[in-house]
Amino acid sequence: MALRVEHDIFVVRQRGREVALAVGLENQDQIRIATALSEVARYLLGRVGGADVTFLAPPATAGCGPVLRIDLTALGAVPADELRHGQSVPVGRLVDSLDVDDRGAATVVRMSRRIPPGAEPLDNDRLRRIRADLAANSPGTPLDELALQNQQLITALDEVRTQRDELAVLNDELAETNRGVMALYGQLSEELEETNRGVVALYAELDEKSAQLRAASEAKSRFLANVSHELRAPVTAILGLARLITDSGSDPLTEEQSRQVELIRTSAADLLSLVNDLLDLAKAESGRLEPSWDEVDLRVVFGQLRGTLRALATSAKVELVVEEPPQPATIRSDEVLLSQVLRNLLHNGLKFTESGEVRMRAERLADGWRLIVSDTGPGIPHELQNRIFEEFYQLPGTRSRGTGLGLSYARRLATLLGGSLELTSEPGRGSTFVVTLPTHGG
Ligand code: ADP
Repeated sequence: MALRVEHDIFVVRQRGREVALAVGLENQDQIRIATALSEVARYLLGRVGGADVTFLAPPATAGCGPVLRIDLTALGAVPADELRHGQSVPVGRLVDSLDVDDRGAATVVRMSRRIPPGAEPLDNDRLRRIRADLAANSPGTPLDELALQNQQLITALDEVRTQRDELAVLNDELAETNRGVMALYGQLSEELEETNRGVVALYAELDEKSAQLRAASEAKSRFLANVSHELRAPVTAILGLARLITDSGSDPLTEEQSRQVELIRTSAADLLSLVNDLLDLAKAESGRLEPSWDEVDLRVVFGQLRGTLRALATSAKVELVVEEPPQPATIRSDEVLLSQVLRNLLHNGLKFTESGEVRMRAERLADGWRLIVSDTGPGIPHELQNRIFEEFYQLPGTRSRGTGLGLSYARRLATLLGGSLELTSEPGRGSTFVVTLPTHGG
């Protein structure tokens, strides 16, 4: 198209819109193209007396889809800067690219706009059809174009208004949401604060309760220690007196009297062993029991226990087997306390096993020892395996044969020696108590 006189600006504008419509640009884009075109056309007409306008559809490339390109070749040279600043409308914003080539005698302005992906492809056939349509449709008068332009302006204004209304609605919604979020936040903060206060109160209560518990436990230990200590002297006296009465140098007793004195003596002996156990436990609990650490030879300990406990294995149906510990069998520990732990376990084994054997053996670990006392006795039900370590707990049916303090004391001693005491047992088949100790206890 040739742009030479004022009237041509309208024609170029109109044609621009028609081409934009024909290649598939949307309504808004058609107006943008037409506006950009008429702005540049008006400037070039005033500045250099006109231009030649060409509509092109360059082949689509890989990185960029189909575009509508419009070249305006001016009738003279116009510096690019001047052209850009001379526009009343920022034309660059109306199109996707605006390029000014002012190197030659005639400046070329190139603008382009992307064609949306859904549009019909611009092959030769289609271009031919578009050309024919445009040729058949002669451009209208400037008045027609003005009327159309007005119409477009009104539509654009309407659209702007609708958008503004939508924006206002969105803003309202946003404000509403913000208020909701703030309210929720406030509520959550309050709940959190409330929970925190609760937790703090709970901790305070917990602290108080553990202080009370500690005080109660100390009181119990003190009570046990005092009572057992006070009981020891009179019970020992009863034992001594009973022995004196039955002594051969004393006056002879009737058979019935002897029987009764013997009853007094065995009862006093039982009482003394209970009192002694209580005293030991109270000492261990109060933390007053300090191991005296030394090199201990396990073979010596095992040998002594073998000697002293053999006397207890009175039943012909139960054998006491104490295996020789593997060499070298030294461990840093407290010999007296360690012997006491093992003695309690062996004693229990012999006490509760009716037939079979009670066996003690030692296994060396990487940095410690495992001392194992197993028996073929009645075993201990799974659900009670923890309870028998509690003070005074005895399995039903075994009440008359001890104090219920031995295991609890043994476990305390094992812990005191830096180790542990654990039990595995299959009811009906026997029990295995395992004392695990570090090689260097103290
Ligand atoms: P005591 O032997 O003086 O009753 P303990 O604390 O040594 O107290 O043991 C608690 C209870 O655990 C015993 O009364 C007994 O019921 C059970 N028990 C302990 N050792 C064995 C064992 N080797 N086999 C079966 N039961 C056992």
